[in-house]
Amino acid sequence: MLGAREIEAWLRESDPARLAELFAEADRVRAANVGDAVHVRGLVELSNHCVRACLYCGIRRGIASLARYRIQPDEVIECARFAREQGYGTLVMQAGEDPALSVSWLVDVIERIKAETGLAVTLSLGERPLHELRALRAAGADRYLLRFETSDRELFSRIHPMPEEGATHRLALLPLLRELGYEAGSGVMVGIPGQSYASLAADIALFGELELHMIGLGPYIPQPGTPLADRAEEFALPEGEQVPNDTETGFKALALARLVRPEANIPATTAFATLDPAAGRRLGLERGANVVMPNLTPERYRRLYAIYPDKAASREDARASAATLTRQLTELGRPQGSGAGNCASYVAP
Ligand code: SAH
Repeated sequence: MLGAREIEAWLRESDPARLAELFAEADRVRAANVGDAVHVRGLVELSNHCVRACLYCGIRRGIASLARYRIQPDEVIECARFAREQGYGTLVMQAGEDPALSVSWLVDVIERIKAETGLAVTLSLGERPLHELRALRAAGADRYLLRFETSDRELFSRIHPMPEEGATHRLALLPLLRELGYEAGSGVMVGIPGQSYASLAADIALFGELELHMIGLGPYIPQPGTPLADRAEEFALPEGEQVPNDTETGFKALALARLVRPEANIPATTAFATLDPAAGRRLGLERGANVVMPNLTPERYRRLYAIYPDKAASREDARASAATLTRQLTELGRPQGSGAGNCASYVAP
């Protein structure tokens, strides 16, 4: 198993020939462990209301210029039907931390998706109390995504001001999610101001130790109007220590995630496609990823889920992006996955 030292050395590697070897090895390990199929998860962004004030995020509370929305249940079901029609196996529901998306609201929606489409359901709703996570699981939710963002406690607390309710505990929630029977996913942003090479290497080693079923990562993209974008120089480390937030470093992290966790489902995330609209998704799929998450959020809400600028998906509607995806997979010679696309190492408790 790759240790944190070796991981750090790879993250610092700049020789194109050596990097080509890393990417080829990640591609080989991907093919050997999860095959060539690319699983498609349709993404619906339920709400951009948020009680948190994460320094990097464009939907943090208190951004007065941002109009807030909450989707209607019927609109979610519509997205689920579209996903089913396109042969996508999973619907991912993501949102800001919005208490008004109550458990009963969510339970009703999950039960309707299950009854009407049979899709696998992934939740990405931030931190929720244990009893709520249990109820959502009982309603039929299959997976939960909760990025720990950084395992460096000091950096974590600097960029995540605590809400009144108390301490945040993203890392502590991951084993609980597994115990509840969820497939558990986590991940990080690459190149957050203040993130050192050593700390990112520790994050990646941790993906292996946590035996994550899903790993989501992508470059940090500054969103003007957020403290981390507007005052980046206060947070950044000296050159040589600070991880860059470019796609190449992101791809190194992606490839290394595949090497430490061969059987995980790993998406080519939207952040890569945003920074490199022409090739971001394809390169992700060629450097360790086996999942894509096209955005199905109704167009009138798209631009309001503004966690970072110019999200790739906000330019194309669901039907156009389905066609683009089909073409890209054909060009790559990778079949679209069928079925739910569970992680092979998942065991129901
Ligand atoms: N409220 C949910 C969903 C957050 S958005 C939660 O807290 O889990 C999903 C992910 O987008 C976050 O986990 C974070 O890693 C990423 N993200 C947020 N702001 C970003 C930015 N400016 N650049 C890149 N990724 C960002």
